[in-house]
Amino acid sequence: MFKKILIANRGEIALRIIRACKELGVETVAVYSEADEQSLHVQLADGAICIGPAAGSDSYLRAERIIAAAEITDVDAIHPGYGFLSEDPDFAEQCEECKIKFIGPNSEHIRQMGDKATARATVAAAGVPTVPGSEGVVKHPEDGLKIAEKIGYPVIIKAVAGGGGRGMRLAHNSISFQKEFTAASSEAEKAFGNGAVYIEKFIEEPRHIEFQILADEHGNVIHLGERDCSIQRRHQKVIEESPSPFMTPELREKMGDAAIKAAKACNYWNAGTIEFLVDKHRNFYFIEMNTRIQVEHPVTEEVTGIDLIKEQFRIASGEKLLLEQKDVQMKGHAIECRICAENPSMNFAPSPGEISLYYPPGGHGVRVDSHIYGGYTIPKYYDSMIAKVITVGRNRELALSRMNRALNEYLIRGIFTNISFAQSIINDPDFVRGNYTTRFIEEFMQRTP
Ligand code: ADP
Repeated sequence: MFKKILIANRGEIALRIIRACKELGVETVAVYSEADEQSLHVQLADGAICIGPAAGSDSYLRAERIIAAAEITDVDAIHPGYGFLSEDPDFAEQCEECKIKFIGPNSEHIRQMGDKATARATVAAAGVPTVPGSEGVVKHPEDGLKIAEKIGYPVIIKAVAGGGGRGMRLAHNSISFQKEFTAASSEAEKAFGNGAVYIEKFIEEPRHIEFQILADEHGNVIHLGERDCSIQRRHQKVIEESPSPFMTPELREKMGDAAIKAAKACNYWNAGTIEFLVDKHRNFYFIEMNTRIQVEHPVTEEVTGIDLIKEQFRIASGEKLLLEQKDVQMKGHAIECRICAENPSMNFAPSPGEISLYYPPGGHGVRVDSHIYGGYTIPKYYDSMIAKVITVGRNRELALSRMNRALNEYLIRGIFTNISFAQSIINDPDFVRGNYTTRFIEEFMQRTP
């Protein structure tokens, strides 16, 4: 196991990684921007280095500064968390060149699966169903039009470098296709510095169901069941749960096998997520792979009892997986609500600022992963997510009633949050019945403006 590692991230995930390290007896170095001096990850790490001004592009996204910090502090490895440089193949490659272990897959895995068109082709070649669409990148709108006519409207035009729900455009017919194609490409160029796009059939009212996988560096791959992440706003996840209320044992076996096949298709290692869309007939289609730990990983931890961050460390230090597929058991039910500093009545505008009073929920079956505290000032420069509330119970009903209780207890004063919005979702009769698709929030907001 590593002696000392650097965490190339901030916020709750930096803290989550520090916690795992403390339990493993691994020393930690935090990096922080000038805006994050008071952040809990800086206070709880064994050492900390300032890597630049507040903006992410001047600090957490500056690979050379992070590598320099790693060399000065003489760490064995870097954990990238999620976001920032976690899916940047060049960063992983620089770590490899500097002989600093990147706690994740290798740079080739990231390069291959990070390009969404190449990822589609890779898994399709291994027999995993993908959404009907283009074979690879579509360069000219005229070519795209032919593909769209063939697969049938509506189609979705997606950036190969897309992420975070951005870089996607829907075309309903041939008249709007050209306009949407050009818009998708120029938006992608602006947001990701890469205007390449591909085309998928738009799946009507799907569920987003993803599989957590773990793979060691010796070729062993297992899956840890699914997470249902269909509750999304603007293609961004808001509430996640495991197991999915839509799952059947047969479907889990089929999708789990497909997820393992997808990971094996690129000889993947470390933790990863295979994302699928599932239609109402329970046909499933691969949409993308995330080659990192995900925000919603705790729901899997709570139902399987497996600490995913510790597993990432074990795998990166060359150990073999301790479990075989037959040893993985999902027990009970877990739900996660992402708590954001935002104002739902102002179209979810970010609400940074000082937290004047803070009282997090607790008690049996409640977990809060968060870096905030009373008196802490949420900087305006980063993602608005400030906490994750995870509840677990013997069954979904119990996990839900705990979530209700926990959100009622959660007191955050001084800023706006989406806590009451989350509560209204989890109390919606359709959500309570487990009857929802990725369109849920859109429809919910039309019903309750
Ligand atoms: P990102 O990398 O930005 O997260 P994804 O490809 O994972 O993008 O898609 C995010 C969400 O967008 C999905 O969970 C789903 O709600 C919606 N989506 C993506 N592709 C399709 C599709 N072909 N049909 C319908 N919805 C889609």
